[in-house]
Amino acid sequence: MKTYRYSTLLFDADDTLLDFKASERDALAYLFEQLNIPLTNEIRSYYLDINHNLWKAFERGEISRTDVLHTRFVTVLDTLQKQEIAPLELTFGGKPIHSSELEPLYQAKLAMGHNLIPGAKELIETLRKTHRVYIVSNGVATTQQNRLNASGLYPLFEDIFISEITGYQKPQVEFFHYCIDRIPDFSPETTLIIGDSLTSDIKGGNNIGIDTCWYNPRQEEKNVEVTVTYEIHTLEDLYTIV
Ligand SMILES: [Mg+2]
Repeated sequence: MKTYRYSTLLFDADDTLLDFKASERDALAYLFEQLNIPLTNEIRSYYLDINHNLWKAFERGEISRTDVLHTRFVTVLDTLQKQEIAPLELTFGGKPIHSSELEPLYQAKLAMGHNLIPGAKELIETLRKTHRVYIVSNGVATTQQNRLNASGLYPLFEDIFISEITGYQKPQVEFFHYCIDRIPDFSPETTLIIGDSLTSDIKGGNNIGIDTCWYNPRQEEKNVEVTVTYEIHTLEDLYTIV
């Protein structure tokens, strides 16, 4: 019988199994189309910068998830209004709207986005036959559940841990303790975390003393002080490790 190095695999969802960037792109395009404001590359980059910085502050524990969600579109639209790119009286699909009301509309659209990373579903379908597979994800619970459902991934996992429900987020130790308490016979020696983020997935793995696998499809530089046990550039590379 074939033996395996690991028994338990903790998978990040966004940009590891689900192509979150593609879903975000679609949802942002929809939002600006409804606002009747041309979404230029400049506006897109500006939004992405603001969003990225807010989530980084969240990962550092400086602001809450609610702060992120209540701030991002309000800040962007404020700036666009000051620059007279957006009208002072915003409309959405022709009806008057305030920038603070955009977040739920964006979320609703994003919640429908379930573009898969190539090979993701086949990978989990194969590995679940020989390993216990779990999701460990930072994000909004209903959004993540809907997207995992729509992608067909949801029923393939033993359990799904989402930061909003746990009350903590990766890389916090408390997040992982919540998961470990719900994983039967958890053993750190035979558990591997797989994810694209050095600051949340890999650092999280380091924090609880398990091996880490950095999914790095764009072959970016490792610019964070963390210990990467394995680095892979395609999801298929994982088969030879686990
Ligand atoms: Mg990710």
